Amino acid sequence: MRVVVDLTRCQGYGQCVFAAPDVFTMNGAEALMYDPHPDDAQREHVLRAAAACPVQALVVDEMSGLGRPRPAPDGRRPHERVGHIVVVGASLAGLRAAATLRREGYTGSLTLIGDEWSQPYDRPPLSKQVLSMRTPAEHTIFPQADGLDAEWLRGTPASGLDLADRQVRLADGRRIGFDRLLIATGVRARQWPNTAEAALDGVFVLRTREDADMLRQRLAEHPRVLVIGAGFTGSEIASACRELGLQVTVVERGPAPLVGALGAVIGAVAAQMQREHGVDLRCDTTVTALEGDAQGRLRRARLSDGDVLDVEVAVAALGAERNVEWLRGSGLAAGVWGVSCDAGCRAVDVNGMVSDDVFVAGDVARFPHPVYGYQFLALEHWGNAVNQAQVAAHNMISAPTERRPHLSLPVFWSVQFGTNIKSVGVPTFADEVAVVQGSVADRRFVAAYGHRGRVTAAVTFDQGMSLEFYQGLIERAAPFPPDFAMADRPAELQVLPAEMPARISAMQDTTVVVTGHNPDERRAVLVERNG
Ligand SMILES: Cc1cc2nc3c(=O)[nH]c(=O)nc-3n(C[C@H](O)[C@H](O)[C@H](O)COP(=O)(O)OP(=O)(O)OC[C@H]3O[C@@H](n4cnc5c(N)ncnc54)[C@H](O)[C@@H]3O)c2cc1C
Ligand code: SF4
Repeated sequence: MRVVVDLTRCQGYGQCVFAAPDVFTMNGAEALMYDPHPDDAQREHVLRAAAACPVQALVVDEMSGLGRPRPAPDGRRPHERVGHIVVVGASLAGLRAAATLRREGYTGSLTLIGDEWSQPYDRPPLSKQVLSMRTPAEHTIFPQADGLDAEWLRGTPASGLDLADRQVRLADGRRIGFDRLLIATGVRARQWPNTAEAALDGVFVLRTREDADMLRQRLAEHPRVLVIGAGFTGSEIASACRELGLQVTVVERGPAPLVGALGAVIGAVAAQMQREHGVDLRCDTTVTALEGDAQGRLRRARLSDGDVLDVEVAVAALGAERNVEWLRGSGLAAGVWGVSCDAGCRAVDVNGMVSDDVFVAGDVARFPHPVYGYQFLALEHWGNAVNQAQVAAHNMISAPTERRPHLSLPVFWSVQFGTNIKSVGVPTFADEVAVVQGSVADRRFVAAYGHRGRVTAAVTFDQGMSLEFYQGLIERAAPFPPDFAMADRPAELQVLPAEMPARISAMQDTTVVVTGHNPDERRAVLVERNG
C-alpha cells in the first residue's frame, strides 16, 4: 500500500504513531518520519492512523478518490469537460492536477508527458527517510498514480510548444495536440559548475529518486562527506549524514545556513543546531576546487580560506534551475525564474497577455500574490505545488465565472537534526523579525516576520501547531510585532532587523524588447542574454 503525509498540514500530534508504530515514527519532539510504502500487513493500522489524524494529513491509495468523479456543477458548458488535456511534467503538480480534473468530472482524454521513466514519486522523503536509511528510494511512489484513465508518456521529454497549432513537440519527433495544456515541469538541481569536477566519482546532486539511490549507496560505505550549500536540502543531507554517524563538513557562502530563506537571525539558530549535532560548518566560505585521483575518484576539496579537506563524497546543494528551456520561442513569458502566470494559473505571454488554454502549476510557476504586493512568487514548496495544481485543474474545466484564484499562503516544512522546522508566508518579504513564543535556547519557538508594521510570515521550530494561528494573522494583515497573550511569550519582545539577503533581479538573464511602430503591430519579444 502507498501512503503520503501532507506535512504542511501535519501538526505533530502523533496519533498516527500510536495507531501504526511500525510505519510512523517521531524523530525528536514532532519531526514525523514514515514509510511511504508499508507492508500490506500494516493496512489496518495505517487506515486507523488516517482516521485518527485530526487534520486529515494522511492520503492512502484507496482513499485517493480517483475513479469516483464528482458531477460537474450545474451550468458548466459540456466542452469544458471533454476534449484533450495535456499535462507536461508528470510529478507532484502534474499528478495532482490530473487527479483533480478527474475528480471534478473531466471526462475527456488526458495525456501526461514526463521525462522520467518511473511512476511519479514524492521528493521530500529523499533527503530525509531515504538518506537516513529508514526507507528505500523505491518506496516513495505516490498513491493515486493508477486509475486516472490517462495516457502516460514516460521517459519522453517535451522539447517545444507551438501555441498557434496547439501542439507539444516531443524530443522523439512526435507532436501531441491539445485543447488545454498544463505546464508542470518543475525544477532540476543546479550542477557543480566545473563539469570536469562534477564528473568525478563521488560528486552528487539530489533531486531525483536515482540521485537519492546512488547517494544512499555511497553513504553506506562510510565516506567523509562534504555538503556544498546550507539551504534546506544541504542541511537535510548533513542531518542524515550525522544520523548515520558520518563525518560531514558543510561549506556555505553566506553567513549561516538557511539564510536565503529565513534570514540571518534564524540562520544563526540553524548554525548552532548544526554544530551541536557535530557538523563541521564553515560559513562565509566557498569551495574553490574538487580534486580526484588517477581513477577519477573524488579525494579532496579546496576551500576559499585555504583549507584542504580529504573527502570521498561531495554533494552540491546549490539550489535549482527551472525547467523552461523547452518553452524557448513559444511566446510565453518563461525565464530563469519560471513561467509567469496570473492568479488563476493561466500562463502569461511575453506581451503580458494571459492565455485561456495554457496553465502553469508547481515549482516552475511564477505567480502574483496580493498579500505580498502582487509580487511574482517563485516557490519550491510541496504544498504550493499541490494547491496550485488543484486550482489550475479546476480553472481548466470551469467557465470564467467559476474560476478561483490561487491565494493560499506558502507553507513549507523541513526536518533536520530531529527538529521540525515549518514556515508560513514569505519570510524574505520582511524587514523585521521577533521571537514571539517559546525559547531559542530550547529550540522550540515561533519567530514572526514583519514588513512595514504588518505580519508577513512566521517560522516555527518544533511548534508546528502554532502555524495556523500565524497564518490567520498574515491573512488579516495583523500588526507587527503581534500583540497577544500567550503562556510561552518571552518576557521581553526583541524586534531585530530581518537581515535578508540582497534580492536578485528576476531579469538577470533575459530582456524584453518591444518591436513595431504602430500600436496594432507592437509586440514584446523575449531576448535570452546568452542565446
Ligand atoms: C530532496 C528534496 C527534498 C524536498 N523537501 C521538501 C520539504 O521538506 N518541504 C517542501 O515543502 N518541499 C520540499 N521539496 C520540494 C518539493 O518536492 C517540490 O516543491 C515538488 O516536487 C514540486 O513539484 P512539481 O511537480 O512542481 O515539480 P517537480 O517535482 O520538479 O516535477 C517536475 C517533473 O517534470 C519533469 N520534466 C521537466 N522538464 C520536462 C520536459 N521538458 N518534458 C517532460 N517532463 C519534464 C521533471 O523531470 C519532473 O518529473 C523537496 C524537494 C527535493 C528535491
Ligand atoms: S497531525 Fe496527523 S500525520 Fe501529523 S503526527 Fe498527527 S496524526 Fe500523524
